Amino acid sequence: MSENDIIREESMADLWNVWYSELHQGRAGLTVKVKQVVYSGQSPFQRIDILDTYEFGKMLVLYGSIMITERDEYIYHEMISHIPLFTHPNPRKVLVIGGGDGGTVREVLKHPEVEQVTLVEIDEMVVEKCKEYFPEVACELTNPKTRILFQDGARFMEETDEKFDIILIDSPDPVGPAEVLFQKKFHQNVFDRLNDDGIMVAQSESPFYNQRTLRRMYENLSGIFPLAMIYWAYIPTYPSGIWSFTLCSKQYHPLQDFKREQYRALGIKTNYYNEGIHQAAFVLPNFVKNAIVQK
Ligand code: SAM
Repeated sequence: MSENDIIREESMADLWNVWYSELHQGRAGLTVKVKQVVYSGQSPFQRIDILDTYEFGKMLVLYGSIMITERDEYIYHEMISHIPLFTHPNPRKVLVIGGGDGGTVREVLKHPEVEQVTLVEIDEMVVEKCKEYFPEVACELTNPKTRILFQDGARFMEETDEKFDIILIDSPDPVGPAEVLFQKKFHQNVFDRLNDDGIMVAQSESPFYNQRTLRRMYENLSGIFPLAMIYWAYIPTYPSGIWSFTLCSKQYHPLQDFKREQYRALGIKTNYYNEGIHQAAFVLPNFVKNAIVQK
């Protein structure tokens, strides 16, 4: 389609001028021009919308907040997965809590040493809709190495006696059913369900807009794990564009124990993560460093 055709199509769309806005506390936000509302529904846990947008392709929106877009989902999913997986020397059993779109599972299974990845997602409808509308994200949910449990991740952590090498908390914001995934009791259960050399990574919100949440999480996790380190990535469709992850480890260090040779030998295809990013992501701007140190 030529540039002119695109402009003509978009000008036609102005006759049907629909924009989706995700606002941060009603004062600032991102607004995106919508081509088509592909799906809108209500699960037992949340509202689920799938929008086709001009700029970011299809977009999964839960409870009115952007979760993934076709255009930039790879950044978040590569960064929550490859940093812990290229730190742990032999990650065989991986647990993903949340993550119903399947993007984190897809990235985890790029590591051949992983024998099983368990996805604990509370909302079966999210998995169902992502398999239907985001097949390139949900592609490994049918992999024989993938086990999917539809239940509350906090309850699973209370009840399971399994242990894992890596646990990834791929949660939405701390609202509704996800609120419990940001609490100290849950983080303690994660610690208890990790092997003696285990690693956990949790998405820890925007260090620009959500400094209180990030600081509280960091304080909790630093009191539970011997090592807690924040790293960040640039994610265009997340509030402020800067997003944080908190890596917690019982034994290995993401920089000193980075498996550089395995990274180079494996040659996995990524569009954001690389060995330079693996190091640089832990270099924090002063405003983030200052935000996590209680003055
Ligand atoms: N990358 C996204 C982000 O950073 O906001 C998160 C993606 S994923 C869609 C988040 C998933 O967590 C949702 O599918 C939601 O249903 C699920 N979820 C929320 N609370 C949960 C809980 N307590 N246990 C398990 N899954 C939960």
